[in-house]
Amino acid sequence: MNTQDNWLIEVNRKIERGKINFPEREYKKYKIDKLQRIAKLVSEMSYDCTECKGYRVDIDQLADNLDQLILNPEEHKKNHFGTIKKITDHLTKKHKIKKKGSLIKNVGLGSIILIVSQLGKEWKDWSDPVRITAVAILIIVIFLAIFIGKYIDNKIDKKGELL
Ligand SMILES: [Zn+2]
Repeated sequence: MNTQDNWLIEVNRKIERGKINFPEREYKKYKIDKLQRIAKLVSEMSYDCTECKGYRVDIDQLADNLDQLILNPEEHKKNHFGTIKKITDHLTKKHKIKKKGSLIKNVGLGSIILIVSQLGKEWKDWSDPVRITAVAILIIVIFLAIFIGKYIDNKIDKKGELL
């Protein structure tokens, strides 16, 4: 148990050291924060997931390569983004980790489908005040849903369980 925590400490140390060289924009572009979140999740999951255990090697490699990435992005970015995507896919599919904003996206998408289905149903009756009221209420509900979705999203994010 201890060795894995030590692994995370060591990786974070490497990332912290490597990211000093990244200008703010590059730092975001290369998803350095995400890399740290992934490392934390992989560290937790690798107690009972052999794939996550294997990903620790990949993350180690990315953390070691941060200097190279900033010096020679063309050569290294493909591997960098590819590895992040590979591990993200595994975490979302196998461990059901949610991506940031996915809740809001789902609520938003559901709402749009609802509205479109409402619009499509009886387009002719748009002058009907009952209908206008219904749509107005629907729009308010959607805003509330997005607001609540964002709130829950932030709460999960604080616990560090989002990607
Ligand atoms: Zn896993």
